[in-house]
Amino acid sequence: MLYIVPTPIGNLEDITLRALRILKEVDLILAEDTRTSKRLLQHYGIETPLRSFHAHNEHKTVDQIVEQLEGGTKIALISDAGTPGISDPGFLLSRACVKNDIRIECLPGATALVPALVASGLPCDKFFFEGFLPHKKGRQTRLIYLSELPYTFVLYESPHRLVKCLNQLGEFCGMDRMACVARELTKLHEEIKTGTVESLLAHFGEKKIKGEIVIVVAGR
Ligand code: SAM
Repeated sequence: MLYIVPTPIGNLEDITLRALRILKEVDLILAEDTRTSKRLLQHYGIETPLRSFHAHNEHKTVDQIVEQLEGGTKIALISDAGTPGISDPGFLLSRACVKNDIRIECLPGATALVPALVASGLPCDKFFFEGFLPHKKGRQTRLIYLSELPYTFVLYESPHRLVKCLNQLGEFCGMDRMACVARELTKLHEEIKTGTVESLLAHFGEKKIKGEIVIVVAGR
């Protein structure tokens, strides 16, 4: 059995009772950055052994993890924040488990896209999750595709690229398209601002932007 366990995206209280129990009970926790996860686990008095599992070693280690799971080792996968597999490592392992008939239990829990989408005030009955846009090659193609979508779409973006991204959204979707910037969700300096792309540029274009960011954009 592989457990996929969401961890907080900021506020340490955002972890379920079941997540804490499973992280205590398993034999091994696979973590993206063991130093980051050690702090979370220490906070909850969890002493389960940790092993690193990240974008650079997941290809190499998947087979070995599948063998351990087949041998009966109980393993949980976590990432630095939120739900593994959502713009984080996890897909290769879940695919290998499905292929090898290993049961997966993914716990429901923290992820940045849902609170951003729901708090944006933009339609959330249907939406498209894009995650990170490519930095250079292919970025324009994705923006053209997204600009035509008839429903809300969600982007993950780094703070130093926020203004560039808003400018490009203005170029491809129009400056009057409604959008929302959700910054530092669940943290002390949480900020959720909804308005036209133009108004968001006026607000965020002036200052140095820090923290983690989700951009939600209304459909065409
Ligand atoms: N697995 C995570 C999830 O379930 O949301 C996403 C991991 S991805 C590597 C990190 C990105 O998620 C950040 O660059 C940002 O776009 C978004 N993110 C994570 N935490 C956030 C927060 N507290 N506030 C806003 N965005 C956040």
